[in-house]
Parts: sequence; structure tokens; C-alpha cells
Amino acid sequence: MNYYMPTKIIEEDNVVLNHSDIFGNYGKKALIVTGRNSAKINGAQKDVVEALDRNHVDYVIFDQVIENPPIELVAEGAKVGFDCDFVIGIGGGSPIDAAKAMAVLIKNPTDAYFDMLYKTNDSEKLPLIAIPTTGGTGTETTPYAILTDHDLGTKTTMAQRVFPEVALLDVKYYMHMPVAIRNNTCVDALTHSIESYMNAKATKYSDYIALESIRLWGEHKEALKGVVMEVEAMKAFMSASTLAGIAISQTGTSIPHTMGYPLTYNYGVAHGKANGLFMASYLNLCSNKWKVANIMDLLGFESLQAFDGYLKEVIGTFELKESEMDAYAELLMSNTRKLKNHPDPITKEDIVGAYRDALGIVNE
Ligand code: NAP
Ligand code: ZN
Repeated sequence: MNYYMPTKIIEEDNVVLNHSDIFGNYGKKALIVTGRNSAKINGAQKDVVEALDRNHVDYVIFDQVIENPPIELVAEGAKVGFDCDFVIGIGGGSPIDAAKAMAVLIKNPTDAYFDMLYKTNDSEKLPLIAIPTTGGTGTETTPYAILTDHDLGTKTTMAQRVFPEVALLDVKYYMHMPVAIRNNTCVDALTHSIESYMNAKATKYSDYIALESIRLWGEHKEALKGVVMEVEAMKAFMSASTLAGIAISQTGTSIPHTMGYPLTYNYGVAHGKANGLFMASYLNLCSNKWKVANIMDLLGFESLQAFDGYLKEVIGTFELKESEMDAYAELLMSNTRKLKNHPDPITKEDIVGAYRDALGIVNE
């Protein structure tokens, strides 16, 4: 058993400006990577620019990252930041994952960027500072970056591993998420801690962290039913997300994430919702009923049905044709790397059953 998670985490109000000296540690020029709007609206980009100015560090901004960024887009961003010494990713998982890929490509410029990101795994990379703003992916404490591969027709995790040097967490950036983004991303964090805890690669270290994330989440779960969330509840979800990131940095995610990717790729279903939909039907498949009961206990649900009902209330539902369920199950059965994370033998019929249990059925 081993444990490795090298990212320094600072969680504090006004963290970027209180620790602005960090922005002077990695060189003379930074590439700031964001989505199109949110980093400007929630104040994170302004704080980062001020922190860089205080250290007389130059910067260039790439603010074109879309949700589920395609591989071609990160290559574009790397060109913009070609002469930078470090990268700052601000936002949800999409800009931070894109920033991870850019940190590799700027250090190793090449037109064969797919091969660099997906066929090699131990290249040097620029240092990365991650500032998350959704509730969320936990990417600030994982080495993974998930990009959209249009050739493959789905989302895949790049082979290169990039842990951020520093993760800076400030709840003020999270406070104005629209309800759907807030709920979907908070549910994503819960799926991470659950998929880590139920994982074949789970260790006592990852379990300890995953269980604390699940406990915190459960303590505040009712807050996702409201429109406005109190700061204390948002702080709990923020911490639960980062803890869940640490947990999956040890184990990876599991079957629900793989079941969800085609919903995102083909129908644009938000990442967190796409996994959350399958949580109850997945736990129903798991043979370790003691662990499942422990999760329900920590979350405060009497049954998997009650858990499923709650999730549908906060993230909604989705419908699919039976032929699509069959095709997606087939795709999942070819993903041997992910299947290894599930501790039990599993068949295509099990997966089709889990799709059927979780989703409504559209007539062909
Ligand atoms: P996201 O795709 O980064 O962003 C979703 C939406 O939320 C965007 O419209 C974004 O706007 C908006 N947004 C972000 N922060 C906001 C804020 N504070 N207030 C208001 N709106 C805000 O969402 P995400 O769910 O965090 O990330 C999903 C991606 O992360 C997926 O590609 C998923 O596969 C990946 N992921 C990675 C890991 C990992 O370990 N690397 C783990 C799980 C998921 P802007 O575009 O304007 O910013
Ligand atoms: Zn996720």
C-alpha cells in the first residue's frame, strides 16, 4: 500500500491575496487558463492578476476553455502560453484539466500533441497552480485530466499525470453558482468519494479520506434543495470535493463515471449529473453490502431508494433508448482499465440493468 498526493492545499478566505507571494515562486510569466465567463464574474481572475502584479510577474490569459474541453483546444491554449514559466488554472474541472494538459504541452512543444498527452506518461511539465470554483471535480488534488476525444467519440483521461503544485481554495468564488451547476458539481464530488470507497484499489488511507468527504457531504445535503446556500454549507461542500479529489487520486473513479461519459458526449448531460444518475443502481450492484450500508448511514439515508429519490430531486432525471443503453454497456465492457477498479466480476447484462434502473426509457 502506498499514498502519494504532493499538492499543497491552502483553504482560507481571501487565499489568493493573503498568499500572493506564491505567485512569485514559479517564474517570470504565467499562463492563466479559464472558462469564458465565470472566473471574471466570481472575482478569481481579478485576484490572480493582482497577485501576479504584486510579484511583477507577466501573464497571458487563455479564456476560451469550454465544458469538456477537446484535445485540439488545449493545443491551442499551449500555443498562446508558449513562452510561459507556469500555468494557473481557474474554474471548474474543464479549465483546470485543460491547464494540466497545457502544462505538459508548453514544456514539450510538438505537433503530435495527442501522442504527447495520451501515449507518454512521465514527461516534464510546467508548475501548475489550481484555483477551483465548482463544488466539484476535486481536480485540484488529482493528477488526472479528462479531455474530449472526438475521434474516439467520448471523454478519456490523458496518460500524463499532473498534480498541481498548489491548490488555493476560497469559498467566495463558489457562492454564485446557478443552482444546476452547484448541484451537479457537488454531486460529482459525492460520486468521487463513493467510487473511491467502493474501489478495488481502495486503501485504508483513501477510505479514511473518502469517508470524511461522504460524512461532510451528508451533514449538509439538505442545503442542495434550496436556491441560496449558506457560506458554511458551501465551505463543507468545497472541502468535501477536495477530499474526494485526494481519495480518487489514490484509486481513480469507477463504473458510474464510465457509464456517464457517453451521456455527456452525446447529449451534453453535465458531468456530475451524468455520474450521479447511476449512483444508486451502481451501489445496488456492489457485493460489499457492509460498505454500502456504511455510506447510507453516513449520508443519512435509510435505503438506496431514498438515496436515489434525493438525487433525482437535486439533479433531475434522464431518459435513453434501450438500444443506446446496450451500446454504452458494450463500450464500457471494452474499458478494461476502468473495469479493474470495480472489485466484483461484472457482465454487460449487469451494466444494461444498471442503465435501466437509473434512467427512464425512450421508445425506439
Ligand atoms: P466545468 O465544465 O468546468 O464548468 C461548468 C460550468 O460552470 C461552466 O459554464 C462554467 O463557466 C461554470 N462555472 C464554473 N465555476 C463557476 C462559478 N463559480 N460560478 C458560476 N459558474 C461557474 O464544470 P465541472 O463540473 O467543474 O468540470 C467538469 C469537467 O471536469 C469534466 O470535463 C470532467 O470530466 C472533469 N473532471 C475532472 C476530474 C479530474 O480529476 N481531473 C474529476 C472529475 C471531473 P465558465 O465556462 O464561464 O467558467
Ligand atoms: Zn467526476
